[in-house]
Amino acid sequence: MGTINVVNVAAKHKPSWYQRLYSYSIAKGLWITLKHFIKAAFLKGAVTLEFPEKKRKFSSRFRGMHTMKRDEIGRERCTSCFCCMWICPADAIKIEAGHVTPEIQHLHPEDKFAKKFEIDLLRCIFCGMCEEACPKGAIYLDGPAEMAADNREDLILTKERMMQKVGGPILGERV
Ligand code: SF4
Ligand code: SF4
Repeated sequence: MGTINVVNVAAKHKPSWYQRLYSYSIAKGLWITLKHFIKAAFLKGAVTLEFPEKKRKFSSRFRGMHTMKRDEIGRERCTSCFCCMWICPADAIKIEAGHVTPEIQHLHPEDKFAKKFEIDLLRCIFCGMCEEACPKGAIYLDGPAEMAADNREDLILTKERMMQKVGGPILGERV
């Protein structure tokens, strides 16, 4: 039978006499708390925010809730091509296409528009694939980050909720 080499990767820690005192650990813990208190209260070093009065400034790459854009003359950019729906790995997007009629032509740049467009935030994993896939620059994840709700209906983003005012970012840009 062969020999098995056992390697000790960490030396056994032997606490000194004062480290064995109960009061030493308490004092050490309280010192850390006091340090953070002084930093937060007097040196403006708080790592927490008084939410919701104060809001964190997110990076431009942050992915919040989805928004849908209009072009510079107010027409909906989405042309109901379904690219975002097919690419979504979480199957979170549902679109119902409609045909543009002469009465609503002024609202849409092409033949089709999204009669119904819903995103289920309970399924969405905020991967940003829909934003990447959209050939019209119609959908961006540049909306608010606060999405807590106490019922499932509020976590379904409808087109009306996502639609922003005229003049969103141009293709490939974010607000
Ligand atoms: S962010 Fe990802 S998971 Fe969410 S709707 Fe877009 S493609 Fe789907
Ligand atoms: S949001 Fe973009 S990708 Fe999705 S259906 Fe509309 S135009 Fe197509």
